[in-house]
Amino acid sequence: MHVPAYAAPAPGEPLAPTLIERRDPGPHDVLIAIGYAGICHSDIHTVRGDWGPRPYPLVPGHEITGVVTATGSGVTRHRAGDRVGVGCIVDSCRTCADCRAGNEQYCRSGMVGTYGAIGRDGAVTQGGYAGHIVVDEDFVLPLPDGLDPATAAPLLCAGITTYSPLRRWNAGPGTRLAVVGLGGLGHLAVRIGHALGAEVTVLSRSYKKQEDAVRLGADHYHVIDSVERLAGRFDLILNTAGSAVDLDAYLSLVAVDGTLVNVGAPAAPLTLNAFSLIDARRSLAGSLIGGIAETREMLEFCATHRIGADVEIIAADRINEAYERVLSADVRYRFVVDTATLPVEGS
Ligand code: NAP
Ligand code: ZN
Ligand code: ZN
Repeated sequence: MHVPAYAAPAPGEPLAPTLIERRDPGPHDVLIAIGYAGICHSDIHTVRGDWGPRPYPLVPGHEITGVVTATGSGVTRHRAGDRVGVGCIVDSCRTCADCRAGNEQYCRSGMVGTYGAIGRDGAVTQGGYAGHIVVDEDFVLPLPDGLDPATAAPLLCAGITTYSPLRRWNAGPGTRLAVVGLGGLGHLAVRIGHALGAEVTVLSRSYKKQEDAVRLGADHYHVIDSVERLAGRFDLILNTAGSAVDLDAYLSLVAVDGTLVNVGAPAAPLTLNAFSLIDARRSLAGSLIGGIAETREMLEFCATHRIGADVEIIAADRINEAYERVLSADVRYRFVVDTATLPVEGS
């Protein structure tokens, strides 16, 4: 079927309306009418060429919520009318040790990303800035009651990307957690970290977001250029900055045996001085989104704790403007595209 979408025609070019082809649902596929699609900074890195070549035209969007409209004959997990979400992964080998351990994002054959990847049918995957999507039932997440589809959409990437490392590194009561960058990921890290019981500090580049940080659940707020007095203060730092940061400066804030987990994925390399680690037996780690079972768990956690994103819902014809605003950190705190505003006929 042909569905309306917004696509980048080539790297660095503005996105424009188009029509894309979705495969006919196979026996294990679910057809979803997309309601909302969040704009992740990764969408921008991808279509600006920060992460290398991709196939074009390319429809970004991996923070998707919608409603099931049809299911293949073998589908058992979902029914027409169900509220569902789709995140960054639409397929994986399912047989490697990592897939079997629920780490589909680290699939040894490579996970199939929601856009810009080659699916099992050989076609390039296209993401959520579109009217409908067809996804294998195993990669479709039920949206728990109580979650609003617009504010829940960003949970499918920003939510799981912060929830997963916070759980893995045991953020909870007694953990002194710092979140670097108050953007899409960062603001959810504050909400989730607070709900887990951690003492949360936001490290931002200005005082502009201080009131918001406190409202989101932060206990402390500091501007990054004056943090020397926080040396050794944190057990866990989550770096969500979308551009390269001074890792040595942040590592100096980590306590003995503490960890800095980097989830930001800038184009420029991150470098560090060996003494930033060995001086206090510190660890530097990275983390990529989260697996399917953990994403389901995260959605339940967010429903229980009434966590959603702060969103600015936009029409599709404002996507390019939204990209510029994300790049200048002028987003409070996630743009979400209302797919009802996609031009029905494409261009
Ligand atoms: P975003 O909404 O643009 O937020 C990033 C925030 O980081 C900005 O609002 C800004 O906050 C801060 N920041 C930017 N540059 C900085 C710098 N040089 N130093 C310190 N702080 C800086 O982006 P996002 O959607 O949250 O994504 C953030 C990054 O994570 C992107 O690189 C994205 O590709 C990556 N990502 C990774 C994964 C994963 O699985 N690992 C998943 C999703 C996204 P302040 O105004 O507070 O300074
Ligand atoms: Zn993302
Ligand atoms: Zn695998």
